[in-house]
Amino acid sequence: MRIIEEEQLDFDDLMLMPQHSDINSRKEVCIERTFKWLGNDNLQHSFTCIPLMAANMIGIGAPAMAKVLVRNKCICTLEKHYSFEALDKLFFEVADFEKIDNVEEGTYRNLLFPTIGIKESFDVLKQLDEKWHINALVIDVPNAYIPKVVERVKEATQLFPHAFLVAGNIVTSERAYTLLEAGCQAVKVNIGAGSCCLTRKLTNCGRPQASAVIDCANAAHNLHKYIISDGGCKNEGHIVTAFALGADFVMTGSMFMGCDEMETETIERNGKKFKIAMGSSSKRAQDLVFGGMSSYRASEGREVLVPYKGPLINTLSSIFGGLRSAGSYIGAHYLKDFNKHANFYKVSRTLNNVFANCESIAK
Ligand code: 5GP
Repeated sequence: MRIIEEEQLDFDDLMLMPQHSDINSRKEVCIERTFKWLGNDNLQHSFTCIPLMAANMIGIGAPAMAKVLVRNKCICTLEKHYSFEALDKLFFEVADFEKIDNVEEGTYRNLLFPTIGIKESFDVLKQLDEKWHINALVIDVPNAYIPKVVERVKEATQLFPHAFLVAGNIVTSERAYTLLEAGCQAVKVNIGAGSCCLTRKLTNCGRPQASAVIDCANAAHNLHKYIISDGGCKNEGHIVTAFALGADFVMTGSMFMGCDEMETETIERNGKKFKIAMGSSSKRAQDLVFGGMSSYRASEGREVLVPYKGPLINTLSSIFGGLRSAGSYIGAHYLKDFNKHANFYKVSRTLNNVFANCESIAK
């Protein structure tokens, strides 16, 4: 048994120090970034985006969300269990948007990231790749410390040699090295930080997200590869913090929950509208996807009613606005440079919540 004494930090434990800035207007802060990688096909590949991602959760990693996200240059990781027909339809519609918006072919399509676990066959994604040439692929399991994930990454590098390959979830640099050296371009970081997650309650396993991001980003950047900070962002400021700590991409589920485009049921209670939200490991999600849960598993996900909050574009605008404004406070012209410019205070409180429980004037 070993106890690690080094303090472990969460997003709420940190606040960015305002400092000298030569940025006169937030408009001068560029929040797009180009990602480059050498594929297993020995060719250089790249794509450009605002590196904000929707989680591959039910209703969030879904076509209606994806269509708005990619047109706004963000990424949508797609829920695992879509059929070829459903994915094909989405790729087709997104390709149409590229024509309508007069952008280069692939600009939006490259931002659709299909997801797979470790049990499913690669057949559907192979078929999709043959038709659409998929840019990226996420291998996603709640616990990527199991040997099968490394095998899966190696298999995917053979089957999709050109693809931007993501694997997760992990929270330590040792495992980041293992997965990245097995051939993926990015690791997804989070165990237990998510809004719908019951893993910590049930197992007490995980790691505070800020420390996990710092540690994994060091490993990935040593190898000139990338990390995704996945989950745990409770507000726009946490997204800024994740980037400033070294995350190359930030993934969120909860920040997008309650939006119009969330593909789950809307219900009304006492005159107020809500959207149904559920963790991927919740009983409700398992019932929806597999028609029931295995008897040896406990539900490690919450099922909640999230207040309805209108169109996704409003949430995106406030995240983009927060990122640009943060760039001007810390003197960073490019999102890519947030980490270089960031100095943090370690704090015990970040928000003034005096009016947090008051009714908002906006409906
Ligand atoms: P959020 O942004 O909502 O805080 O976190 C989203 C992330 O939580 C997802 O991308 C995924 O990594 C994680 N997650 C989603 N559903 C579940 C679940 O049912 N159980 C656990 N342990 N994690 C979940």
